[in-house]
Amino acid sequence: MKGAVRTARRIMGRLKKGDDLLAALTRECENAEITLGEVRALGAVSRARAGYYDQTGREYKYIEREAPQEILALVGNVSLKDGRPFVHAHIVFSDEEGRAWGGHLAEGTIVFACEFIVREYLSEERFERRFDDETGLFLWSG
Ligand code: ZN
Repeated sequence: MKGAVRTARRIMGRLKKGDDLLAALTRECENAEITLGEVRALGAVSRARAGYYDQTGREYKYIEREAPQEILALVGNVSLKDGRPFVHAHIVFSDEEGRAWGGHLAEGTIVFACEFIVREYLSEERFERRFDDETGLFLWSG
C-alpha cells in the first residue's frame, strides 16, 4: 500500500546518555503524539544491537557489540502498530577504525549521545502495521 503524505511538524532534540535508543525515539514520538513520519539521527552509542532478518527462518538474528561506536546514520519511519506509534529504523555504526556495520535497530542499543529529527507526516491513508503472512513481518496494510 501507499498513500500521499504531507509534512507537518518537525521536532529536533537530543537523547540522554544511558537511554535505550529505540525506546527513547519511540517515547519522543509518543510525547509529541506523532503517529506517522520520518526519523533521522546521528551520534554515538556505548553498546549496539541490530538485527538481520533471516528470510528463510522468518526470524531476526541479533548482532551485539559491547563497545563505544559512532552512529553514522539512522534512518527510519514512524507508523502505527497496535494503535500506538511504532518506530522502524535501520542504523549504521562504525568502530574506532571507521569500519561500518549495521542492521535493523533493536532494543539494547545504549545512547552515549544522540541528536535526532522527527518529521511528522499527515495522510488520508492509515499506515498501520499488520502481520504479513508472505514475509512473516509486520508490514503496512490497508
Ligand atoms: Zn527493519
